[in-house]
Amino acid sequence: MVTRAQGVWLETHDGRRLIDGNGSWWTNTLGHSHPRLVAALIDQARTLAHCALSSIAHENAALLAKELTETAPAGLTRVHFSDDGSTALEVAIKIAAQYWAQNGHPQRTRFLSLGGGFHGDTIGAMSVSGLEIFKGRYGALLFDCVTLRGDNDAVDERTMLALESALASNDVAAVVIEPLIQGAAGMRIWSTRFLSRIRELVSAAGTLLIADEVFTGLGRTGAMWACDLAGVAPDLLCTAKALGGGMLPFAATLATERIYDGFRGGGSRAERALMHGHTFCGNPLGARVAREVLAVYRDERVLERVAAHSIRIRDAFDALSRVKGVRAVRSLGMVGAADLGDRTDYESELGWEIYRAALRRGACLRPLGNTVYVAPPFLISDEELDRLLRILSDSISEVM
Ligand SMILES: *Cc1c(COP(=O)(O)O)cnc(C)c1O
Repeated sequence: MVTRAQGVWLETHDGRRLIDGNGSWWTNTLGHSHPRLVAALIDQARTLAHCALSSIAHENAALLAKELTETAPAGLTRVHFSDDGSTALEVAIKIAAQYWAQNGHPQRTRFLSLGGGFHGDTIGAMSVSGLEIFKGRYGALLFDCVTLRGDNDAVDERTMLALESALASNDVAAVVIEPLIQGAAGMRIWSTRFLSRIRELVSAAGTLLIADEVFTGLGRTGAMWACDLAGVAPDLLCTAKALGGGMLPFAATLATERIYDGFRGGGSRAERALMHGHTFCGNPLGARVAREVLAVYRDERVLERVAAHSIRIRDAFDALSRVKGVRAVRSLGMVGAADLGDRTDYESELGWEIYRAALRRGACLRPLGNTVYVAPPFLISDEELDRLLRILSDSISEVM
């Protein structure tokens, strides 16, 4: 039981201290209770804790929209706020479908996604996910989505061929991807070359690219957005997790001006509008904290810290590749992962053995099957990061 958390440290009911090796499920990039985020939250709670964002507005939602679009890949000029990663995807899916339905291409109803992709736990987000373990048992509820598979679910040349042929049919509403790192699938890292290629193929086919940056966004890969590393701009971009500062559920779906224009006009107010208005959409507490998150990234040069840490993480995982029982290692930005045993197995106990060994040594390293990984807060110190990587390596050596 965690009773308190400060910086990268979780404190438990029995007085132990654990390094938060996965940043509390990928939400925490600036450390727990960062003083600036706490101060912003308290001040905002005293000033305006909630106000609807429908026919009325408030300053922090407006300014956050502006500040988000200024950091985003080129052309993403419009923002729809919501509450979590799954919802950010639902919104993107609904925008894509409605955009084509009311702009002269009603046949564009099909979604394509990548094998190994994870996009959330709600029905639409699950439908476009490519991980059977999470969606299999809800099959009857899901809409059809073509999953593009390479060899062993990797994003590779075969995936590109599958995409090319699927796009030829002219009925695709959008292609949904996790750019460069498929998080939930086991931190599968894929190349900027394929990301650029996907953008080209999707543009050539005249359809839309949805980049799910719920995990990869806000600096995880070393750039503000994973898409930036490939110089790619999607048509829709989803962000959540770290956007709420590891404190509050908060999400956004960014869109291009062209898509926004596709919802204007019509006879009545509602005729062409996007029918998606969450009760807590753009909540002032979340919006204020998210603005402070972006300000801290700027003031504390967070991306420079990521660049320095990423070298330490890469070196540590390269060294792990020589440990007995480690099948493969990889890293990018603030993420390092090692596959154990002789095949991928989400229900393997191996990862959980490492988890228990690491708990005894003072780190929380929740595995993804038999893949163990680190994705710590970016403002971890060099000493803390070395300690985390040492605990990981010692735990693997012990168990394997
Ligand atoms: C976590 C995650 C989601 C879902 O976000 P929730 O906030 O859990 O709904 C969607 N996409 C990706 C890539 C994620 O990592």
